Amino acid sequence: MESKNTSAGAGLFENILAEKRSPMNSEYEVLLYYKYAHIEDPEDYARRHRDLCEKLGLLGRIIVAEEGLNGTVSGLSSNCLKYRQVLDEDPVTSGIAWKIDPSEEHVFPRLSVKVRDEVVTLGLGEDDFSPEDLTATHLKPKDWHAAMQEENVVLLDARNDYEWKIGRFEGAILPPLPSFKDFPAWIREHRGELEGKKILTYCTGGIRCEKFSGFLLKEGFTDVYQLDGGIVTYGKDPEVRGKGYEGECYVFDQRLSVPVNRTESARLVSSCCYCGCSSIRYRNCLWMPCNAQFICCEACEEQHGRYCGTLCNEVHQTSFAALNED
Ligand SMILES: [Zn+2]
Ligand SMILES: [Zn+2]
Repeated sequence: MESKNTSAGAGLFENILAEKRSPMNSEYEVLLYYKYAHIEDPEDYARRHRDLCEKLGLLGRIIVAEEGLNGTVSGLSSNCLKYRQVLDEDPVTSGIAWKIDPSEEHVFPRLSVKVRDEVVTLGLGEDDFSPEDLTATHLKPKDWHAAMQEENVVLLDARNDYEWKIGRFEGAILPPLPSFKDFPAWIREHRGELEGKKILTYCTGGIRCEKFSGFLLKEGFTDVYQLDGGIVTYGKDPEVRGKGYEGECYVFDQRLSVPVNRTESARLVSSCCYCGCSSIRYRNCLWMPCNAQFICCEACEEQHGRYCGTLCNEVHQTSFAALNED
């Protein structure tokens, strides 16, 4: 891009971008957060936590475990602020690095507060450990971007396949796994690709990497780093502005994805399964036995119906016809 303007002009441009993406007057917020900390009685904690959310009118998903807390909620900005204050003042949860997105409405249909064995399920069983005891060095966005440029570095995506399909760091290793608990086996099968390399691992908000990077250290890899605050924080950083990330970031709410790269190098990496146009529009196949998640543009959904392919469409129509004949 040409830069014939002074730095003041560039600054003005930045302000316009920022306003468009984070209107000052948006009434709602979406919060994403986690905290690894010992929770004495998860059942009791979950009950009290649900009461708090209900009082504040928050919707979303919260997982409580003995090892900590993982949540994403939406609500009125004023109520989200109160929620953050309560958690910040509680010694158990103080020090959370909140990820806050403005929103015009709720992005969850209901509130769910669940007690689980782990806040994220890596499924290590007897070998499970706490990231409070073992986790890799965190890299701030700027240091992460610098490390990406080094020789002998591998970027390792610690998310599920349907997440990286619509966005990831350029050149990252993308394990084709549907679930986080599949990672340990995959790592053991692919040691060769990672051995002797500097490993940079990343996920949406950072929680999965807390444990996953610790697992990599346990497996004998020594040069391991994790992206502090995950992709979401990387995209918000005023200096790097998501540079080196392509596509959008999959999120587990009704928005489905959020933009990350706010530089001129931003581009989409996924495309409509029918016409091939650039798209990040996820749908679930209408034929229930299939129910596959696929990417489809609006025009093609209108033309072909909400099916992952013509086969599912035909099978579904045929079964309808058969029902009507009875
Ligand atoms: Zn299309
Ligand atoms: Zn299908």
